[in-house]
Amino acid sequence: MATDSQQTTQSESPEDDEPAIETARRQLDHAAEQFDIDRSIVERLKHPAKVTEVAVPIERDDGTVEVFTGFRAQHDSVRGPFKGGLRYHPDVTRDECVGLSMWMTWKCAVMDIPFGGAKGGVVVNPKRLSDGETERLTRRFAQEIRDVIGPNRDIPAPDMGTNAQTMAWMMDAYSMQVGETTPGVVTGKPPIVGGSYGREEAPGRSVAIVTRETCEHYGMSLDHATVAVQGFGSVGANAARLLDEWDADVVAVSDVNGAVYDPDGLDIASIPTHDEEPEAVTKNATDVLPNEELLELDVDVLIPAAVGNVITEQNADAIQASLVIEGANGPTTSSADAMLHEREIPVVPDILANAGGVTVSYFEWLQDINRRAWSLDRVNDELEEEMQTAWGEVRDVVEEQDVSWRDAAYAVALSRIADAHGSRGLWP
Ligand code: NAD
Repeated sequence: MATDSQQTTQSESPEDDEPAIETARRQLDHAAEQFDIDRSIVERLKHPAKVTEVAVPIERDDGTVEVFTGFRAQHDSVRGPFKGGLRYHPDVTRDECVGLSMWMTWKCAVMDIPFGGAKGGVVVNPKRLSDGETERLTRRFAQEIRDVIGPNRDIPAPDMGTNAQTMAWMMDAYSMQVGETTPGVVTGKPPIVGGSYGREEAPGRSVAIVTRETCEHYGMSLDHATVAVQGFGSVGANAARLLDEWDADVVAVSDVNGAVYDPDGLDIASIPTHDEEPEAVTKNATDVLPNEELLELDVDVLIPAAVGNVITEQNADAIQASLVIEGANGPTTSSADAMLHEREIPVVPDILANAGGVTVSYFEWLQDINRRAWSLDRVNDELEEEMQTAWGEVRDVVEEQDVSWRDAAYAVALSRIADAHGSRGLWP
């Protein structure tokens, strides 16, 4: 499941109630002030280009008709077609889609990928739907948003509650409607219909690469560096397994029910991922720590890779890690971020660290357009190169301007977006 977070109850704002749209706007303002970005461009970036709201009626298995609400928020396309996930979750709202679409704009720009940001979803609890109902919902949703998506217009991908199968149905529905097989309309598909090898592991792989580079930058050897990872799903487990292969000591991992901890290092390969067996981290464990305690362990690297807003004003002072690498989207609130900066604990932001997902989505789109699949080795090699380049560009700003990693990542992203707006100008 590339981005299937179906089993989680993730919201970007579970604890601190900082809606994604507000966080995104606050971060934009903060970065714009610091880096002298043209105010008229910042003003444009505060507003999505378009938000589409649709009704999605489907026939339930019992013959009744239920109508769901779907959204597609398209933030900015100055650098290329819109790109971003589709989530099926009861908490999906218009504003959440807009906030998350803004993050996608920055994420694509920091990676220098020629896409802009989008996000969408349907307000539904996917666990309430049978496979047949999910397929009907997906096909009808694809029809309702058909005019605003397309391989050169807006390319959805899986997100919470959706997966490779959802994308295959979406691609099929779109292709049937336009009368030609169009694999490039979505990414995160199964490889047999144009999906990319390595897409599923990519966000975790990029988190591991960024961890390795950042440890080296601060003179910490990855060999036997102690690492705590919150969340053992697609992002957390893939990052933990790779870091374990690279000789780091992963001492703690967790699922929604708590954490397991061994100061000498866990046998990571033996722990099933969330996808392989949900909540298996704690199932057979005798000694389970609360998730909050994992965050406060005295480790070299902390990787929050489960849900949003877990490092807050309440616990930022108790974080003992030397380094935080954000695997989840938005795990650190703005106030906690400022407190960690004050304490000189570097936080490498989500828009850089977990950007392997959208990067391999871009590779998938290229493969679809060229009708030619890449090998897994090629995908991983190119991802390694893209991550090193992007990480190096952000590091240069950290060093030259003495700012946080988050501010540096925003500076890189915003300057690219602002320059593109500046050179294209304002139409008409
Ligand atoms: P996942 O559903 O595969 O796994 C989530 C893991 O977190 C599970 O182990 C689950 O038990 C655990 N968890 C759930 N709620 C928790 C809680 N309240 N406290 C602690 N642990 C909890 O999810 P994923 O795809 O790995 O995504 C994790 C995060 O990374 C999300 O923020 C997601 O938006 C972000 N992300 C995912 C991708 C991707 O492609 N998978 C890409 C970029 C960012």
